[in-house]
Amino acid sequence: MSASIAHKQPVIFCDFDGTITMKDNIVAIMRYFDPPGWANTVDEIISKKRSIRDGVTALFGSLPTSRKEEIIRYSVENAVIRPGFRELLRICREHDIPFYVVSGGIDFFIKPLLADYPIEAEQIYCNIGHFDGVYIRIEWPYTCDEHCNNDCGTCKPRIMRSFPPQQYYRIVIGDSITDFEAARAADYVYARSHLLEQCQSSGIPYEAYEDFHKISASLQQHLATSLSHASEDKRRDSQ
Ligand SMILES: [Mg+2]
Ligand SMILES: [Zn+2]
Repeated sequence: MSASIAHKQPVIFCDFDGTITMKDNIVAIMRYFDPPGWANTVDEIISKKRSIRDGVTALFGSLPTSRKEEIIRYSVENAVIRPGFRELLRICREHDIPFYVVSGGIDFFIKPLLADYPIEAEQIYCNIGHFDGVYIRIEWPYTCDEHCNNDCGTCKPRIMRSFPPQQYYRIVIGDSITDFEAARAADYVYARSHLLEQCQSSGIPYEAYEDFHKISASLQQHLATSLSHASEDKRRDSQ
């Protein structure tokens, strides 16, 4: 982490599926409820033949709302939160580091899974599932702006743009190709799985993690280093 963390406000943008939770919840829901053609649609998203927004709309658009309770119950009971998450939130709070969840996932599983953690509603950027028709309909409040033509679904770079790099030290935590554009824009990246491989092959600096304990330790170390830099600066200025 560069010394610039000492002169800017750090802010964290953390993915949800496969990052805060151990596995991707959308894939888990599809695998379990098995709507027709879901595996093919997932393949098309991964191979970028289909945009995330379009593909995820199609996936949920094939699940009947009559199974709403079952779907919600399954997704909440089946998900496992990655170890060390509560500790990371505590450290962020202690150091006044805003923590945002930026997710291409859906509110009906994200919000119940985070209900037990000290995260305010306005810290969560995600999509909204509607159960008012025959099939689940997804509302996308954070689609791409004019600077992005990726049809992201949840456009993570767009969300980060409201935190200007002159003022903020932007830290991204993620696990997959949907975090790549965010990682490219970030000052510092914690990566695992596909995101790690993609950062590696594109030459984007990253630090690997498998749990949040690792990230907490790394963050505290960088903050301690930046504090000692800041006090050195002060000493030098006063001489
Ligand atoms: Mg993910
Ligand atoms: Zn976008």
